[in-house]
Amino acid sequence: MKLANLIGWTALVLTVGTVLFRAGYRIGRDKDLRLRNAQGGSSGSVQHEEATFYFRGVNFLLSDEPDKAIEAFTQAVRINSETVEIYLSLGNLFRARGEVGRAIRIHQNIIARPDLSDSNRTAALFALAEDYRQGGFFDRAVDSYRRVLSVDPSHRKALAGLQALHESEGRWDLALEVLRSLKRVSGQADPRREAHLLLRAGQAQRDAEGKAGSAAVPEPLLEPYMAAIKVYPGCVEAYRLLGEAQLERGEVAAAIKNFSAVRKTRPSHFFLLVSALQKAFTLANDEKGFHKMMNEAVASPSASARLILCWSNLLEEQGRLEEATQLLRRGVTLHPAATPLAHRLVLLLKRSRQLEEAVEVANRCLDLLTSRQPVFQCAQCGFKSQDISWKCPQCQVWDTMEPL
Ligand SMILES: [Zn+2]
Repeated sequence: MKLANLIGWTALVLTVGTVLFRAGYRIGRDKDLRLRNAQGGSSGSVQHEEATFYFRGVNFLLSDEPDKAIEAFTQAVRINSETVEIYLSLGNLFRARGEVGRAIRIHQNIIARPDLSDSNRTAALFALAEDYRQGGFFDRAVDSYRRVLSVDPSHRKALAGLQALHESEGRWDLALEVLRSLKRVSGQADPRREAHLLLRAGQAQRDAEGKAGSAAVPEPLLEPYMAAIKVYPGCVEAYRLLGEAQLERGEVAAAIKNFSAVRKTRPSHFFLLVSALQKAFTLANDEKGFHKMMNEAVASPSASARLILCWSNLLEEQGRLEEATQLLRRGVTLHPAATPLAHRLVLLLKRSRQLEEAVEVANRCLDLLTSRQPVFQCAQCGFKSQDISWKCPQCQVWDTMEPL
């Protein structure tokens, strides 16, 4: 909180500095102009009056009276690209400090100027959209982003802002549409996001159809899930939903194929689909097939600790204790730092009275954990280390390391 205030204050001082510098520069330049055209005096006084408003505005800012400052700034008679920039950054600063109402007032005031260039109007509209978004006025924010994009369809920041907004509102189809525009404009894809948006949009569509058509339960669509997999082949959730939809449609073999595809496309997450696979194989009346697939999966060198744990639990449930123990023994060699594996193995060994081995496994696991445990922690920044440093390498403060 204190740090945020400090940052806000520093930014304010910097902006005030910019305002002063630019106003000073403008007055100096205007004075030269007046000296040169000593006869055409009227425009000089307007500029002088304008500068007075700046200084009054800056004074109000410094004495922490932001509303009076805004009033003074917006009373400046003329506006040009320089002053618009100052207004914009002042508004953005208020937004950054969480004072959204003030930011909106400044940005609206800029937009209301008749003599504004197109690029400045777009910049002010974008700033206003950001204000509305931060202030929670989502409809107005969408409207402002759309106005920016109607002038400049490739405005990346506006596309990104609108995209995030649609996403936070759960308007998945719109979020997807804007994401695709952003991809076209920036040339940068975000396949993970796109895949999950496809899934959410597909589910929303299905929910809507389910509510509308009361007579027959609609058959689940497979297209959104397939599209998500095409965009991002590592999307575990897409395979899961696709397989579940296929199970609903009675396509058990296809479901099994898709659930097990994750073994190749995202082996680290395959364990998440084990219970879905078990269900599918049960529906296919193929218990043997399930066991064969799982045995193959855990035998692979890429088998994750979670997968080994998952299958050993299922083996244990079926009373196949010796197989479970054997699997866990291999698991702890493959993943010595995976405590849940060691824990499970110790429990199993205890159950079968192999106490000597249980103690040995527990000791090995504890030794490893202890050797990796940090010994000291910086009281200032939380940096952890096994050796003591009299000057913290992270926050650079002296003598802050306390033993854990
Ligand atoms: Zn530190």
